[in-house]
Amino acid sequence: MVNNNLDTLRDQVDQLNLELLSVINKRANLVQEIGKLKGVQGSLRFDPVREREMLNQIVEANNGPFEDSTIEHLFKEIFKAGLELQEDDHSKALLVSRKNKQEDTVVSVNGLEIGKGEPAFVFGPCSVESYEQVAAVANSIRAKGLKLIRGGAFKPRTSPYDFQGLGLEGLKILKQISDEYGLGVISEIVTPKDIETALDYVDVIQIGARNMQNFELLKEAGRVNKPILLKRGLSATIEEFIGAAEYIMSQGNGEIILCERGIRTYEKATRNTLDISAVPILKKETHLPVMVDVTHSTGRKDLLLPCAKAALAIGADGVMAEVHPDPAVALSDAAQQMNLPEFDLFWEEILASNLLPVKTK
Ligand code: PEP
Ligand code: MN
Repeated sequence: MVNNNLDTLRDQVDQLNLELLSVINKRANLVQEIGKLKGVQGSLRFDPVREREMLNQIVEANNGPFEDSTIEHLFKEIFKAGLELQEDDHSKALLVSRKNKQEDTVVSVNGLEIGKGEPAFVFGPCSVESYEQVAAVANSIRAKGLKLIRGGAFKPRTSPYDFQGLGLEGLKILKQISDEYGLGVISEIVTPKDIETALDYVDVIQIGARNMQNFELLKEAGRVNKPILLKRGLSATIEEFIGAAEYIMSQGNGEIILCERGIRTYEKATRNTLDISAVPILKKETHLPVMVDVTHSTGRKDLLLPCAKAALAIGADGVMAEVHPDPAVALSDAAQQMNLPEFDLFWEEILASNLLPVKTK
């Protein structure tokens, strides 16, 4: 008897579930219609005043046994689902996301195709200090058959009293080196007004960690026809990092290289904590090439090689590291830059590591 009753009640619940399903979908159809009309009118899809009115009406009619707050919560979920339905798929999938574009984005710089399978290497001093200083590093880079050089002309420093970079003079030195040594140049720009200027001097504009959420700078970088190397912010989540890249791409420039450069954690053994798993996550979530800066992430010369190997092994599209002909007298990041013999050794170890693809003839 009890079992019979239970079965009957369950049958009724099953029936009501189906009725709810039908009513909920009927409502969804209407909401979609409304969404189309709003789209035509160009009005905002979320209307808090209208939602409040609907909730008031529902709560007023509520005779229990559910509490008003429970009813509000349930209906709020239904409203939310309806709103998501109104937003077409394209507006939900970010431009930088894999959902939006399946194929890998390949960024071409000075004959290299970054993101195509063969890792790219970027070496160079933290700051451009003089022509001779950059030339010494360029010489060593060229001797290794490498194609890219980095160097900061505008330096965002923690203290305003520290060396701020040579500015335009630094960009001019880099351009001269680029021409003389056949190297592609990567250099950081810190203000929107300098983006235009940089076009004549660099091959890749770097947006540094401290500026990852400088939205005006990101938008300006998105308006030019030049590859952008975007570094992860000091404490940025992967979602925020991807959001920053989206700012650039939303303005039209899709030539973006992401760069994991360590994040701030409680760990003090390294300057930052290299978030190595960010590499495959970013590769999965976005179609953009991902590099790893082993210098700023570790701040330790003894960790450059193992971290570079880890980056290559985990699928990074490139590695960045700082090299200075005389790090002891460097005007920035003196402790963490490799000198030239250390650079030679580093490179030999990379070549010997079997982590580079075998070149097919
Ligand atoms: C740099 O690459 O010179 C630099 C300052 O790095 P980050 O923005 O990652 O600190
Ligand atoms: Mn540096």
